[in-house]
Amino acid sequence: MSFTFYNTLSRQVEEFKPREEGKVAMYTCGPTVYHFAHIGNIRTYIMQDALIKSLEYAGYNVKRVMNITDVGHLSSDADTGEDKMVAGAKREHKTVMEIAKFYTDAFFSDFDAVGNKRPDVVEPATNCIPEFIHMVEVLLEKGYAYVAGGNVYFDTSKLEDYYIFSSSVEKEALEVGVRDDVEEDTNKKNKTDFVLWFTKSKFEDQALKWDSPWGVGYPGWHIECSCISMKHLGEYMDIHCGGVDNIFPHHTNEVAQSEAYLGHKWCNYWFHSNHLNDQSGKMSKSKGAFLTVSLLKEKGYDPLVYRFFCLQSHYRKPLVFSYENLDNAVAAYNKLVKRVSELKADGAVDEAQKKDYEAKFCEAVSNDLNTSMAITILYDVLKADVNDATKIALIESFDRVLSLDLIGHAKALVEAGTSVDAELEAFINDAIARRAQAKKEKDFATADAIRDELLAKGVEIKDTREGVVWKLV
Ligand code: AMP
Ligand code: ZN
Repeated sequence: MSFTFYNTLSRQVEEFKPREEGKVAMYTCGPTVYHFAHIGNIRTYIMQDALIKSLEYAGYNVKRVMNITDVGHLSSDADTGEDKMVAGAKREHKTVMEIAKFYTDAFFSDFDAVGNKRPDVVEPATNCIPEFIHMVEVLLEKGYAYVAGGNVYFDTSKLEDYYIFSSSVEKEALEVGVRDDVEEDTNKKNKTDFVLWFTKSKFEDQALKWDSPWGVGYPGWHIECSCISMKHLGEYMDIHCGGVDNIFPHHTNEVAQSEAYLGHKWCNYWFHSNHLNDQSGKMSKSKGAFLTVSLLKEKGYDPLVYRFFCLQSHYRKPLVFSYENLDNAVAAYNKLVKRVSELKADGAVDEAQKKDYEAKFCEAVSNDLNTSMAITILYDVLKADVNDATKIALIESFDRVLSLDLIGHAKALVEAGTSVDAELEAFINDAIARRAQAKKEKDFATADAIRDELLAKGVEIKDTREGVVWKLV
């Protein structure tokens, strides 16, 4: 069976062929740890996790490397403004390293909570300064870089095709954008040139700085991903991942400097997932107030429900977040857990049926990572004419990719006694009906009293578009 996904480099859905049979060398851009990761960032990491686990389901062995950006990422991706880490440290009256540690830990806490598997290698940029300096030296030697005003820049005019990911129409739009939007840096020979190494001619108050052949300074943002991937994966990699905002300039610049340094093609497949938007547009850290997975948890949402919400939509489409949409996911997830809790693990697994459904599931995730189809197949299994033992075996099998822990939640539900306590369920249903009637009659005091009555019995109710849902608290 072939494994396909959309390759930004060829601008089409392509069959994946790794360099080494059965093995995948993968790199994913990590977070910039100057603030919490919002649920949009986490969407990107959930879809990458789904890609990795789908590849593993299809039989590949994946090695994944991820960086932590703790230096060099300026407030504009075009090398202008203030270093995001320095701004974060000032905001909180802490050192840059304290900020980096705090937000790296917070990131992984949310990353783990949504069921993601940790990367095989996680490397902070500040660990690799000698590697960055070496790459910059080689780029200078090869004539791809120049020193101006104390900084080192990559000379994009030396490349035949700098806008490697863009069609000719997109290229024109980008050229206009680069010309009009970017604050002028008179050291640059070409507007698209980017910084490889900053020195104090650019910033006076940089907290983190290192000696280099070009003076005391710090690396540009893009160089870290090129060097960290080569340090752990060598001169070639199969799949490079990121959000769509990374395509330009970050990934474009990564390719420019990596291929100039190596003298050959670097990465064959580029996997980009689309953004999570809220009502006001793209969710972004620089906007200030934003939502995190931990905050959702504080509000009573299970982080795995957020994962379920993300997996229900395709990675290449923008996804709109609203509490209403999330509540619908809560209702659907709870229903699933309830149905799983009613399965009885007696009898033998029907291996032929199991194989059949596993093949269907594998086909869905191998088809441009169709996670919503994979979930539909899970529903098909629950409805199917197969015994419960086979259903449970299939749910466990699918969870190697979905990581929704339906079995664990179902066990907890059974232990809490809800799936067997018909009396309580009848009471809840009656209370919900009485409350609906009270609301219809605009008797909100009675409606609230019924809500409290349920709460006293350990039952919390929520109004969603699909009706009232309840859970034990
Ligand atoms: P950052 O910490 O800003 O470097 O971003 C970490 C990852 O999240 C990158 O791969 C970004 O492309 C991605 N990202 C940023 N904003 C969003 C968003 N609103 N939705 C989904 N992914 C995002
Ligand atoms: Zn990167």
